[in-house]
Amino acid sequence: MSPAMTTTEVTYEKLTNIADNGDLQHVPSSTINYKLRATANWVKKPFKQRSFWERLATLDLASDKCYVVQPQNPNPPPNLNVWRERLWLVITIAPALLIQALWYYIIPETSYFHTWHPIFAFVFYHLAFVAFTIRLIKHLTYYMDVYGTFDEHNRPRDYVPDKYVPRLIISVLIYTLARTGGGLILGGYNRHAPPSLGHTISWLFPVKIGLWLISLDFFFYSYHRAVHTFPFLWKYHSKHHSTKHPTPLQSILADDIQEIIEIFLIPLLASLAMPLSAHEFWIAQCILMYIEGMGHSGVRAFWTHPLIGEVLRPFGMDLTIEDHDLHHRYGKSGQNYGKQTRIFDRIFNTISERVEGMEK
Ligand SMILES: [Zn+2]
Ligand SMILES: [Zn+2]
Repeated sequence: MSPAMTTTEVTYEKLTNIADNGDLQHVPSSTINYKLRATANWVKKPFKQRSFWERLATLDLASDKCYVVQPQNPNPPPNLNVWRERLWLVITIAPALLIQALWYYIIPETSYFHTWHPIFAFVFYHLAFVAFTIRLIKHLTYYMDVYGTFDEHNRPRDYVPDKYVPRLIISVLIYTLARTGGGLILGGYNRHAPPSLGHTISWLFPVKIGLWLISLDFFFYSYHRAVHTFPFLWKYHSKHHSTKHPTPLQSILADDIQEIIEIFLIPLLASLAMPLSAHEFWIAQCILMYIEGMGHSGVRAFWTHPLIGEVLRPFGMDLTIEDHDLHHRYGKSGQNYGKQTRIFDRIFNTISERVEGMEK
């Protein structure tokens, strides 16, 4: 530890299990020794004294107990009701589409204001995406409080370090703007076609979006495994791994290059493999955000992917929260590279055993 570091700082690396080449080795989390944590003085300030960025980052804070080591829970993680989550997704995603459909229904076709110009649609759906994200974070932090978090008996969740607070909020803005605009462009937004099941949204949209997510996971797995494998690429991913125990919003904390690849390139490649309409895209982006937030929440529950989890479970390829939580604990040494499924981790043998949330 350098002399400049205080007792509240952290390198986020394991004290032990470092290989001769300096890489961290893949070890069971029970043997991990954790160093101290990064400086996060912003959380100690009263809300009114926090900066603009810090006030926005406050949204991501769970209850106090999530940041304090807890007694070991002797019970297995509870099974989260996936139908309740599907209902939550419908209730939270549908209103934006219903508002546009209702607008086209109510405003006469002869009116200049009947159709939504692409720029208006972009602004509307971006605001809807931000609203979805805020509700999602509240949803996840609620469950963090109710169920606790994985590995909480060894180490609680990490605060966003002081130095990354502005970066995180800017990343969220870039993410939501780019994903909204990208979806409208790639989906070929048509201002004369309001949201309509069987029209702009296929009756088979859950299947289409499920396939889109799987193809996205293939490209993400390839990129993700590469940045963990080749030392010269690790620097583009290490910022995302600055936490061993993330919180929902830290799913978006990334380096510039990583953002370009994850926000633009990978969804673009997935869309070439499985094209979606603009409205299907918006649903897919919300589900993608849901899975990314869920995977970084650490909620101690058997909580699977609401769209494709049950289909993949018989093959041992479904993703639950603990899978990506373990990925962060292992750091550079990797394992569990998929972020939507474990299909490619299973095929290429990079899967990691679950520690607390065993297969049901
Ligand atoms: Zn990683
Ligand atoms: Zn992550």
